Amino acid sequence: CGIVGYIGKKNTKEILLDGLKELEYRGYDSAGIAILSDGEFSSFKSVGKLVNLEEKTKDFVTDKFAVGIGHTRWATHGKPTELNAHPHVGHNSYVVHNGIIENYAELKKALLDEGVVFLSQTDTEVIVHQFEKNLQYADNAFEAFKKTISELKGAYAILLVTKNEDEKIFFAKNGSPMLVGINEENEKYFASSDTPLIGQCSEVNYFEDGDYGYVTKEAIVIYDKEGHTKKPHFTKLSTNK
Ligand code: GLU
Repeated sequence: CGIVGYIGKKNTKEILLDGLKELEYRGYDSAGIAILSDGEFSSFKSVGKLVNLEEKTKDFVTDKFAVGIGHTRWATHGKPTELNAHPHVGHNSYVVHNGIIENYAELKKALLDEGVVFLSQTDTEVIVHQFEKNLQYADNAFEAFKKTISELKGAYAILLVTKNEDEKIFFAKNGSPMLVGINEENEKYFASSDTPLIGQCSEVNYFEDGDYGYVTKEAIVIYDKEGHTKKPHFTKLSTNK
């Protein structure tokens, strides 16, 4: 029941795992990360404690620019298994999600009718397939993401990364908490609460319900629920844990 994300040049794997540790207090049954670097994804998932995920990733090195997302899951739809752990994958994209997609069954049925193959029992997996379906008809990944969000009902904090635009993290927040922080090097960190960002980020923007958009190396682009752009509203984060 926690989310982290990072775009920057530091050790992405360590940043994601450290962030997830700071969110352990929220409770979870499984965990996973996906990292996109040099146009290639690496993804790891495990059931149980984060030490299991650390063990699985111990030989994996991230020492250059990457985008990464991570998740601790508290199962609502589908048992706590490795297949049901996030991130969930389509052809070219990975998603993590906290919350519940209330209309997942009808979206899933339509996707299954079109021949999409599902790997998990989660409500979350529809997000990545719906996004990739929309991508076939959209001008760019953001248009496809925006359409996808407009089709979802329920509570969510979502991060999505795609090979189609591999230096962006797409986000949406409605009912589940999420914020983004920046530091002096202009790196961006996402998390479900500010604890993982303490000591990493000087300023943070708490998303409001209905916010969606994307971050790049340079910018944070936010739209509100009416579809109007809005500037991040930064507040200072204390550097003491
Ligand atoms: N509903 C999703 C699932 O069961 C997300 C649960 C969560 O917030 O961790 O996989």
